Amino acid sequence: MSVLSVRDLVVEYQTTGGGVPAVRGVDLEVDRGEVLGLAGESGCGKSTIAGAILRLLPAKTKITGRIELDGNDILELTPGKLRAVRWTAGSIVFQGAMHAMNPVQRIGEQIMEPILVHGQSGEREARIRAGTLLEQVGLPTRRLDDYPHELSGGQKQRIMIAMALACSPSLIVADEPTTALDVMVQAQVLQLLRTLQHDLGLALLFITHDLSVLVEVADRLAIMYAGKIVEQGGAEAVFHTPAHPYTKALAAAFPAIGDMRFRGRPSGLGGDPPDPQQIPSGCPFHPRCAEVTPACPSVTPELWTAGPARLAACVHASGAPALEGVSR
Ligand code: ADP
Ligand code: MG
Repeated sequence: MSVLSVRDLVVEYQTTGGGVPAVRGVDLEVDRGEVLGLAGESGCGKSTIAGAILRLLPAKTKITGRIELDGNDILELTPGKLRAVRWTAGSIVFQGAMHAMNPVQRIGEQIMEPILVHGQSGEREARIRAGTLLEQVGLPTRRLDDYPHELSGGQKQRIMIAMALACSPSLIVADEPTTALDVMVQAQVLQLLRTLQHDLGLALLFITHDLSVLVEVADRLAIMYAGKIVEQGGAEAVFHTPAHPYTKALAAAFPAIGDMRFRGRPSGLGGDPPDPQQIPSGCPFHPRCAEVTPACPSVTPELWTAGPARLAACVHASGAPALEGVSR
């Protein structure tokens, strides 16, 4: 059964410089107990999808399509219902977690807050639950009395995970949850997320620019470029035998998990992803593509079959229609 279903999602930020089409027609599905990895360079629209799922985007933002989370039609919910859904149906762990905590409030109180507001339990039960959550994320219960500055970056990220779990949501969206951590701690936090996801049967949408991280945790991968999914399939298969030239470049750019040399910018991939207000015609990746053909600037690829349980938006995909200027 699918916990999260996203259909034809289009998100356009409204700025004084005009509309910014950050997400341009995305479909996603995450089942109970499944980890979907969403990858792509910075600026491709990953966080915008995360923000749309939990409706955390600026109020003026135009969002169309359909987002169903745990049976809730997210784009149609009233503000009151939305607040409840944010903790009880889906919650988010993000990169800026280190700065998201209240510096003058004890850890325990911060974990108890959503439980008291949405979990319908009393103070005593909420504290017991907070202690249990701390143990689940590998920290001793006595840490409940600590203030955020008494914790390391990795410990703070564990607390953010505990908070995300507080109201037993069906889905956790983890947006670059380990990107700011050093490699050892990153590996530990990844292991923790994976264990919790498995033990609690959670649906997890794991977002990062680093494909080598995703292949460690995800069952399936969706690769994003310029606001669209350009490839999807089983994690191992997509990582080891990518079909889309963009995925090939990404996979080559992140050979080893958490390699500091590749933070932020993939190697071997010249240039930058396009500005959403100036997306190239045809295949948006064609100006940077190593396998560009004469058809690419004019043919807008769809997610065509590119192997067993594999889709790729590329004219070279095996299931792409015969096109002039493309030889196979
Ligand atoms: P990613 O998470 O993949 O790095 P984002 O979803 O953060 O990408 O951003 C996608 C695009 O939307 C980028 O071009 C970014 O500059 C733009 N963007 C993000 N937030 C806003 C905003 N609040 N207003 C206008 N543009 C935005
Ligand atoms: Mg982001």
